Amino acid sequence: MSNLDTFRTETRAWLEDNCPASMRTPMPEEESPWGGRNAQWPNPDSKVWLDRMAGRGWTAPMWPEEYGGGGLTSQENLVLQDELRRIHARPALMSFGVWMLGPALLEFASEEQKHEHLPKIIRGEIRWCQGYSEPGAGSDLAGLQTRAEDKGDYYLVNGQKVWTSYADHADWIFCLVRTDTSKKHDGISFLLIDMDNPGVEARPIRLISGASPFCETFITDVKVPKGNLVGELNKGWTIAKQLLQHERTMISAMGTVGGAGSSGGLEETAKTYFGEQDGHIAIASMREEVARQKMDARAFGLSLRRSAEEAKAGSGPGAASSMFKYYGTELNKRRYELLMKLLGSQGLGWEGEGFTGGELNTTRQWLRSRANSIEGGTSEVQLNVIAKRVLGLPD
Ligand SMILES: Cc1cc2nc3c(=O)[nH]c(=O)nc-3n(C[C@H](O)[C@H](O)[C@H](O)COP(=O)(O)OP(=O)(O)OC[C@H]3O[C@@H](n4cnc5c(N)ncnc54)[C@H](O)[C@@H]3O)c2cc1C
Repeated sequence: MSNLDTFRTETRAWLEDNCPASMRTPMPEEESPWGGRNAQWPNPDSKVWLDRMAGRGWTAPMWPEEYGGGGLTSQENLVLQDELRRIHARPALMSFGVWMLGPALLEFASEEQKHEHLPKIIRGEIRWCQGYSEPGAGSDLAGLQTRAEDKGDYYLVNGQKVWTSYADHADWIFCLVRTDTSKKHDGISFLLIDMDNPGVEARPIRLISGASPFCETFITDVKVPKGNLVGELNKGWTIAKQLLQHERTMISAMGTVGGAGSSGGLEETAKTYFGEQDGHIAIASMREEVARQKMDARAFGLSLRRSAEEAKAGSGPGAASSMFKYYGTELNKRRYELLMKLLGSQGLGWEGEGFTGGELNTTRQWLRSRANSIEGGTSEVQLNVIAKRVLGLPD
């Protein structure tokens, strides 16, 4: 038996013993395990599952063991992800710390900063949010104006961020700040700010749906210790770009909807609303559309997998992350368009008794999917990056 086969057998047995039954069911939004200082656990099994996975470092399976990570190779991680998918396990932890900040800290932070922050991210003790965008700095991110002034042993920070997802629930914010006003890209630094500091205020923005996933974040006369600067002063743009590549790779995974080849419920939905004949979707044209979507998702999932295996440890995802971000989000939007087509008039509900919970959820997710091609950098901007940095076309 190869080492990988042994790893699979042991992983399967461990998951059987440790993944609670209720963590193998679809996850309602209110049970999303974001962790943090003020975490709520409407389903206590979510906490049990998080603690068990974090205990093995499997909330960040490939991070080094010295910071509490799993220390797995990419091959072992693929096995772990396969086995988690096999039992329909919910994510043990949802975390901007794991998806975005952690990889940047591993590459750019001091040893002290890594030991301070990474274990808390892995255990879900601290919830992070992303302080990049500002009212005048979205796609042109380097135009940001939030200032950090050197006051000797601390920075005095003033400014406003916007679109800060879940800032009202977050404990810390990773921020891009201006530390030199005479230069654009070379005047930006990367700063970690504890949101318990007086002067940090997150105001939720209420959306038409009634939900408030975003905030405007105001930072007024906040004193930040110099030890919270990651990397060199005025060199934060390099970190910012690298972190964005991790964010884009994470968002692009939506295109695979739970992994390579996953139908994401399309086939079952089509059979429910269009009927079944000899085990197939009754209408030929729908069969074709569903098959095409599944084939594209599978091909995309395999490309993501190949790219992840090709990327050398620590070298980061590279400019190809823009290709994946663009295609993955367009694919996810197409998938929801198709689901809406399958639902027909049952996809028109926002609330009310004439619709099932699944139908209402699909409609809301369809609306939410529109934001995929904006968050983490818009599709238009990804196409620019692909043109310039992947294809080498002139400006
Ligand atoms: C769901 C969601 C969650 C988000 N979460 C966060 C978060 O947690 N933290 C955070 O910091 N930010 C967050 N954002 C902000 C996001 O990163 C920005 O919305 C995004 O970068 C676009 O910036 P903008 O909204 O200012 O649009 P603009 O930059 O004003 O762009 C407007 C339009 O012009 C186009 N455009 C702009 N420049 C060019 C160009 N050079 N060439 C061609 N077209 C161009 C854009 O593609 C877009 O269609 C989130 C956004 C969304 C939708």
